[in-house]
Amino acid sequence: MTLIQDTLPQTRHLATAIPGPASTALHREREAHVTSGFGVALPVFINRAGGGILEDVDGNRIIDLAAGIAVTSVGASNPHVQTRVAAQMGRFTHTCFMVTEYDSFTQVAAWLNTHVPGDFDKRTALFTTGAEAVENAVKIARAATGRERVLVFDDAYHGRSLLTLAMTAKENPYKLTFGPFPGEVFRAPTATRLWARGAEATATSELKAVEALLDENGPETFAAMVIEPIQGEGGFLVPAPGFLAGLRELATRHGIVLVMDEIQTGLGRTGTLFASEHDGVAGDLTLTAKALAGGLPLSAVTGRADIMNSVHKGGLGGTYAGNPVACAAALGVFEAFEDGTLLGNANTIESTAREILEPLVAETSVVAEFRGRGAMLALEFTDKATLAPLPALAAEVAAACHGQGVLVLVCGTDGNVIRLLPPLVIGQELLRDGLQVLRGAITAANNARPDAANTAALASA
Ligand SMILES: *Cc1c(COP(=O)(O)O)cnc(C)c1O
Repeated sequence: MTLIQDTLPQTRHLATAIPGPASTALHREREAHVTSGFGVALPVFINRAGGGILEDVDGNRIIDLAAGIAVTSVGASNPHVQTRVAAQMGRFTHTCFMVTEYDSFTQVAAWLNTHVPGDFDKRTALFTTGAEAVENAVKIARAATGRERVLVFDDAYHGRSLLTLAMTAKENPYKLTFGPFPGEVFRAPTATRLWARGAEATATSELKAVEALLDENGPETFAAMVIEPIQGEGGFLVPAPGFLAGLRELATRHGIVLVMDEIQTGLGRTGTLFASEHDGVAGDLTLTAKALAGGLPLSAVTGRADIMNSVHKGGLGGTYAGNPVACAAALGVFEAFEDGTLLGNANTIESTAREILEPLVAETSVVAEFRGRGAMLALEFTDKATLAPLPALAAEVAAACHGQGVLVLVCGTDGNVIRLLPPLVIGQELLRDGLQVLRGAITAANNARPDAANTAALASA
């Protein structure tokens, strides 16, 4: 097999304007056939991708700081994944695991049971999308506890199906016009962005608020508490030390199933296989998807054997759940993580990004925080004098990067965060080039603000 990474140069290259003429023509055709309900971050059509490069149909080579939203962590054409998928494609594409079995499903489950945090006997269920994993975790927690209610948090993102939309916090674009949503979903505050909340906000005060919410509604009515160990779409919000441990204690005390949504953070993204390891906290159930199968659709619920086995026979499933091609891809992903190099890369990505981007917090009046862990990093654009979020500035910086061949994504409940999710296989030189472009775009946008001098003076006052 010819490997894409051997023939796709790992350098940024602008052959045309971005988007170029070929992409623009294809985009026009798309608009004639595809619903306008899908947005697009950068309207270029991709021809090949691998390492840290997306090559478009005009011959532009774009630096990938998105990894298809934290999916292609092992690269978009990883040889471990390609080899196993090709072999599986040669054997069969589907049987439906509920009709006849195949061993790769079991092997993916066995790997997850071993590597997911939690020193207890585990079982795993495989599904297709992240939202499906979240929905099934709620089903399993309800079956196990005989309770109905679900506790979620401010800035949460858990998917786009109707139940997961009820659990997701952000209104536009996710929830707008799509209600009503299923009930029995309660939302609690989180201990994040403490710098913006004043000195008295600590994990302790936020945990008290969670406890008060549970007490007010009856803790014995809650089946599950669902939390992202670092909140993704909400803005790469890292919880204050002790917050996750405090939730763990509350969940244990009240017999509530703690569900760790590691769909974006899992599989090495934050420099450990699972982000909850940083806090030394294990969910009763842990959810994975995104990077699990290197781009093929696969998700999983992994957790305590007694909880996972509390569901009646036939209660869980799905036509494509744990598809054999996706399982083969996941086994390739596990192989790619085996020698520890990729986890090391995630930590190197963090130190390089800190070196290049963290000084912007002091140098500008608009970068309020540089945060994240490993290769899950973000810059928040907030006017430091007024604490007003700056979504237009985040969009302007992203557009400037896109024009120069660097793909970054915007996120955050206020749309004022630029997030970095490079593939863990990106080369250091390529990464530095991409981060310097981002740094230049931020500096230019900061200096172009009409009140730049004013705000900088206020911020340093
Ligand atoms: C992406 C994501 C989901 C939803 O996954 P889909 O595969 O898009 O359904 C759920 N939770 C988190 C934390 C996510 O990042």
